[in-house]
Amino acid sequence: MDLGALSGLTVVAIDGPAGSGKSTIGRALASRLGLEYLDTGAMYRAVAFAAIRARVDPDDAERLRAIAEAMDLQLGPDGVVVDGVDATLEIRGPVVTQAVTAVAADPGVRAELRTRQRLWALERGGGVVEGRDIGSVVFPDAVLKVYLTASVEERARRRAAELDELDYDQVAQDLVRRDRSDSTRAASPLVTPDGAVEYDTTGVEVDRIVEDLAAMVEGRS
Ligand code: C5P
Repeated sequence: MDLGALSGLTVVAIDGPAGSGKSTIGRALASRLGLEYLDTGAMYRAVAFAAIRARVDPDDAERLRAIAEAMDLQLGPDGVVVDGVDATLEIRGPVVTQAVTAVAADPGVRAELRTRQRLWALERGGGVVEGRDIGSVVFPDAVLKVYLTASVEERARRRAAELDELDYDQVAQDLVRRDRSDSTRAASPLVTPDGAVEYDTTGVEVDRIVEDLAAMVEGRS
């Protein structure tokens, strides 16, 4: 898709490492601005879920791309349905979290999901889109690009609090593993996008962050 087709959309692009606050802040900011919200991490997790169900090796690029292209994905506020199967809980579990890194490093999967993300925004006139390559690759002309950060300790604490069975040390190790892999992969690595506002969320109230970001969007549109 030609990037020119995306000009004129009201897109807010939020990137950052795992646990930096992207989902909580993205959802709240979307509701504050009257926009819809897209969690692109859930899309990569959905492909990993579909690949595991189909017993496709995450290193088999051809089959992985075919899985991504054929996947029927319903992403709603109440859950995630992949090829008719409710995957809401499973996509957050350890098996998918382990597999998603290899899936997200695949250029064919990234090309397919990038197209779906752009179509999603085109159909809605924009939205708040959150992920790892949103301001750098998917929507480089977004109205506002934000790069969220937080200390590793705070990020691990937030993630461990999301699901009861998660153990803090395991979560902290997993965050460091995913940060390293997401930042060093060849295809669309996690970077601070050009022109992005960097915001450290460590110890800052969600409402405060949302108001700061909403004021930036309103100042620019
Ligand atoms: O945000 P979340 O932890 O759910 O993302 C899961 C994984 O999906 C990340 O660790 C990353 O490997 C991948 N991802 C990505 N690009 C995005 C969103 C997520 O590579 N835009």
